[in-house]
Amino acid sequence: MAAVTPYSQPDTVDHYVNGRRHTGASTRRQPVFNPALGTVARDVVLGDAADVTAAVAAARGAAAAWGDTPPIRRARILTQYLALLQAHRDTLAAMITAEHGKVFADAQGEVTRGIEIVEFALGIPSLLKGAFTDQVSTGIDNWTMRQPLGVVAGITPFNFPVMVPMWMYPVALACGNTFVLKPSERDPSPSLLMARLLTDAGLPDGVFNVVQGDKVVVDALLAHEDVRAVSFVGSTPIAQYIYETGARLGKRVQALGGAKNHMVVLPDADVTQVVDGLIGAAYGSAGERCMAISVAVLVGDVGDVVLPLLAERVRALRIADGMDAQAEMGPIVTREARQRIEGYIATGVAEGATLVVDGRGHMVADRPDGFFTGGSLFDHVTSTMRIYREEIFGPVLCCVRVPDLASAIELVNGHEFGNGVACYTRDGGAAREFARSITVGMVGINVPIPVPMAWHGFGGWKRSLFGDMHAYGEEGVRFYTRQKSIMQRWPESIGVGADFLMPTAR
Ligand code: NAD
Repeated sequence: MAAVTPYSQPDTVDHYVNGRRHTGASTRRQPVFNPALGTVARDVVLGDAADVTAAVAAARGAAAAWGDTPPIRRARILTQYLALLQAHRDTLAAMITAEHGKVFADAQGEVTRGIEIVEFALGIPSLLKGAFTDQVSTGIDNWTMRQPLGVVAGITPFNFPVMVPMWMYPVALACGNTFVLKPSERDPSPSLLMARLLTDAGLPDGVFNVVQGDKVVVDALLAHEDVRAVSFVGSTPIAQYIYETGARLGKRVQALGGAKNHMVVLPDADVTQVVDGLIGAAYGSAGERCMAISVAVLVGDVGDVVLPLLAERVRALRIADGMDAQAEMGPIVTREARQRIEGYIATGVAEGATLVVDGRGHMVADRPDGFFTGGSLFDHVTSTMRIYREEIFGPVLCCVRVPDLASAIELVNGHEFGNGVACYTRDGGAAREFARSITVGMVGINVPIPVPMAWHGFGGWKRSLFGDMHAYGEEGVRFYTRQKSIMQRWPESIGVGADFLMPTAR
């Protein structure tokens, strides 16, 4: 097992370049809060273009040797990394809870889902296996192989500070690329520990680098000609900006954006499972998940049964500091985010929706300054309301009533986002029709949050993803490599004379 160097969390979260911490010259700082306490826990350095130049130079310097390292040796380093991640799972989870606010057991689950991508990436020798055709013409063979791109960058959101970076870098590194990560400035601490563990695992210096910061760093990464590809996960306006800017500058880009995920409930569904599914998927992680269910589409008269049961469960949510073992829901990430969420609740009321449970102003006894809000539940929401159309990204569930499956499908397909969707029913034919006709990238049948496993790939449709390829899985391998086709013959088999015609098989 790789040697572990002692790790103490710094008061100022800075960058990681060429195998060591790097502070840079930028004097800009931003406070990082513990949202359960409502107090500043530490600062994060907001980097500048010089920090990006240093990180990309380190990544570029390491790219040739790392790209030439046999895939099985790259995988062996990731095997060491996997062991270190497993040993540090709870440390990473506690860091997530301390800066994001989600409950500790949920944070442990986040780290585990990230670890699964490393497990997938260990199979890289077989994932990079090319295709070979013997004798495409007499004495001629043709094969294709995939080669790394070089330096690639990842820009990630606050809501999964470990898992979303791990959708990207384990696959990118396994493919032979070097990486620059720009984490969210709201919860930056886990990025430095992940970087340190990679070094401890034996990753050569410069292969993985971190630059903390905001738009300044993002724009410098986009503009840098040595950055060949950019993976982004975050809100839709920024995803679109990253995609358009990166593509204009000749980069390969995958940019995953926002969401409004529906759960369609048919009248024959198991009501207990529906209520359990909705309560976890809408209020888990305080609704700050891109796969959270934020709309329940209640078909026929099922709403009359589901609503009272749901309301009772929303009122009973156990809301506390995420480190409290009893907590089902922690605080919101920042005071501003809570203000935005509570603002949407006021908008919904003004728009005429029925506010069944109002979570605004929720107080947690021993955490008076924490950024808490309660769970909120709306009924009789319509498709023209802002609370239906826009992503609230908080613990607010909107219920829409529709008469039948066809109207439910039409409603979901009419929404600008298409990240995840679920359908609860016992009818296999209805489930099949739903799964085939819905214009959403990830579908759950009686599964509320259908986040695909590491080897299947993750991605939405419509304005939830800009670009052609989903994250991780085989699509991730394709994204982080480019295909080369080689056609070869040996001098002994070459015929006599020049050939002026389009070559065909002989
Ligand atoms: P965000 O878009 O505010 O930030 C994402 C990243 O972009 C951060 O690293 C941030 O520093 C950077 N950024 C922010 N503003 C920028 C700007 N003007 N120019 C350049 N870079 C900028 O998103 P967030 O609030 O951190 O995360 C929540 C959002 O992410 C939600 O919309 C959620 O749906 C989405 N999300 C989507 C997925 C998915 O898979 N589709 C997964 C997780 C989160």
